[in-house]
Amino acid sequence: MRRHYFLGLAAGFARDERIAHTFKIGRKEDLKELERYLLRRYGGEKAILAKNGRSALALVLKAYFDKGDKILVNGFTCYAVYEAVKAAKLEPVFVDISLDDLNFSEEALKKVADEKVKGIIVQNTLGNPVDIAKIESFAEERGLIIIEDLAHCAGVRYADGREAGTVGAAAALSFGKDKSIDTISGGAAVLRYPYKNLIEAPKLRPKLSDHLRARLYPTFGVMCRALSYVHLGGVFIRLLVKVHWVEKSADNELDLRRRPSKFEARLALMQIKGLRRVGERPLRDFYFVDDRKRTLEELARIGYYFGGFWYEKPVSPERYYDKVHFPEKDCKNAVYASEHIVNVPNYYKKKDLAPALRVIEEHKEETV
Ligand SMILES: *Cc1c(COP(=O)(O)O)cnc(C)c1O
Repeated sequence: MRRHYFLGLAAGFARDERIAHTFKIGRKEDLKELERYLLRRYGGEKAILAKNGRSALALVLKAYFDKGDKILVNGFTCYAVYEAVKAAKLEPVFVDISLDDLNFSEEALKKVADEKVKGIIVQNTLGNPVDIAKIESFAEERGLIIIEDLAHCAGVRYADGREAGTVGAAAALSFGKDKSIDTISGGAAVLRYPYKNLIEAPKLRPKLSDHLRARLYPTFGVMCRALSYVHLGGVFIRLLVKVHWVEKSADNELDLRRRPSKFEARLALMQIKGLRRVGERPLRDFYFVDDRKRTLEELARIGYYFGGFWYEKPVSPERYYDKVHFPEKDCKNAVYASEHIVNVPNYYKKKDLAPALRVIEEHKEETV
């Protein structure tokens, strides 16, 4: 039986791309080219490459908001977003989600927006687009600035055909592991119309280990897959985590001063140009199950390890949750989702996933 839990490593690359990349020379020009591409694709005025998605988001927030401003944040999210908001010295206001798409609705926004709120981060959770027309008219009515967080949704289209990242004042991209563009780390800010505060682009050189990691990432993906046939893929990936080759994505530290590596830029460019799923499929498909622990155990028994599903707390991972002081009372759906959700990344082939979906089907929650 084949073990499935490591398939995500460098899933976004074709096999020949993976190997070839490792032997290419890193060029400064790759960074410039990525910046130019992002500006063309998203129609921005300034692109800034960053160490990771949260640093990019923090830079965006600093550019458009002032210290102490409140900002509306999806109530089902990653600790990275909270960190970015805090790094920009803003106050997050968590908004409850709808269980249909894991996004906040216009009604939910209305409930919590007061006059100190100056902006909205639109996240398009797991690649499910928000009802952007409604959010836009709400933002306009209240004079709020929309920021698009593309970590889950690069390449996704809204119902009216516009691409995520082209609507708000600015967009932040993450190139972190398992995100819609996955080069293992890195991120970018795309700023559009006049912003309030000047921000400094990161200047510090990436560490040698960052270069190496991004250089070898796709090849390690190939090795992992090969080893999976002899049941050693899991051992290999655990080893990579242990020696910090693969950082657990939640632990990728926010750093506004460090640039990404040239290799990350090259990989990001490769992926974003070839984004397979423009408007097609979300990043992950989600289901609600009655007893998640049992469901996951049964999945593990047949070789599927979905330990890294999004999210096990309204602001995940669990080990940082207490820091957030999440308003559970006001975000009941988010709490429900965090207790019952399982989700699976879309890099699986349908055929490979079928046995897992049968298990999930048996446990599906009736009431939702
Ligand atoms: C992962 C993530 C980010 C940024 O991630 P980095 O790990 O800092 O690249 C931003 N927003 C959301 C919703 C995410 O899940």
